[in-house]
Amino acid sequence: MPDGERDPWLLTPGPLTTSATVKAAMLRDWGSRDSRFIAINRRVRERLVEIAGGEESHVCVPLQGSGTFAVEAMLGSFVPRQGKLLILVNGAYGKRMVRMMGYLGRAFATVAAAGRRLLIDAMSAFGALPLDARLVPFDAVAASSNKCFEGVPGIGFVIARREALAAAEGNAHSLSLDLHDQWQAMEKNAQWRFTPPTHVLVAFDQALAEHRAEGGVAGRGQRYRANCKLLVDGMRALGFETLLPNQLQAPIIVTFRMPADPRFVFERFYDRLSEQGYVIYPGKLTVADSFRIGCIGRLGEAEMKGALDAIRRTLAELGVASGAPAGRAAIA
Ligand SMILES: *Cc1c(COP(=O)(O)O)cnc(C)c1O
Repeated sequence: MPDGERDPWLLTPGPLTTSATVKAAMLRDWGSRDSRFIAINRRVRERLVEIAGGEESHVCVPLQGSGTFAVEAMLGSFVPRQGKLLILVNGAYGKRMVRMMGYLGRAFATVAAAGRRLLIDAMSAFGALPLDARLVPFDAVAASSNKCFEGVPGIGFVIARREALAAAEGNAHSLSLDLHDQWQAMEKNAQWRFTPPTHVLVAFDQALAEHRAEGGVAGRGQRYRANCKLLVDGMRALGFETLLPNQLQAPIIVTFRMPADPRFVFERFYDRLSEQGYVIYPGKLTVADSFRIGCIGRLGEAEMKGALDAIRRTLAELGVASGAPAGRAAIA
């Protein structure tokens, strides 16, 4: 394991562990104007709209780049230059949108108001938690290839209400992030405006086939919830405490408070887990001293139990009796 016999399991928010078949899909080269590649591109776009329940009303505009590119493209394309955006900041990515609006030079507010048009960053939920255009009347939702869809990183996409996208012509501040232009070009000749990430797209197509085979959003969400429960129960048994109570915890990534035991040195904990083939995610949260462990990607019961075993071994090595955070009695 430590010497590259297998890839590490990525218990992170992304990039994530992908299946062997998704990786294998990248072993071929594709001409971007070849009819077979064009057919794959069409299939991916249509399937994403279907998953969002938008067949009657929405289109999918994919874009080169990570999820952030899709979010910035969504804001730049949908908020008119004289328009104003209300940002519901519930974490780091809301703060990132505030920064984007600074770059775009557009007005925004972060106080709630009613009866507005809805733009959603569903990056870490779309594909595993339900979102239906017939129930939630969004103008656009941004997500990416490599989170709950378990593709490889490199494509962001926006699922947009057709009329809203048509009305977005001329809004964008940027040629490469202009969703209206990308859409128009793709509608005209079914091709990307600039070099498409061909290998990422065919891997995404394969990942979507596997998503469907698993039972779509319901099946994927079920596996992630089972992963999350195994993880949380196992960590609590070791004394660790989650930042959030169960009723607020989404089955995507779990934040744990840093243990109080002075023998717990996070860098050593992280490195030892990584050497055993389990990559977790250092916390950057300002609200609490914490670290995170993801439940998404091509991981199941065996990998979650393996991670818990590795955590148990590592605590013993470090001489840490309990993962309990400060302010709690250690379970010695
Ligand atoms: C991951 C994530 C992003 C950023 O996506 P990148 O692919 O890292 O650019 C934005 N918003 C949310 C909610 C995310 O989970």
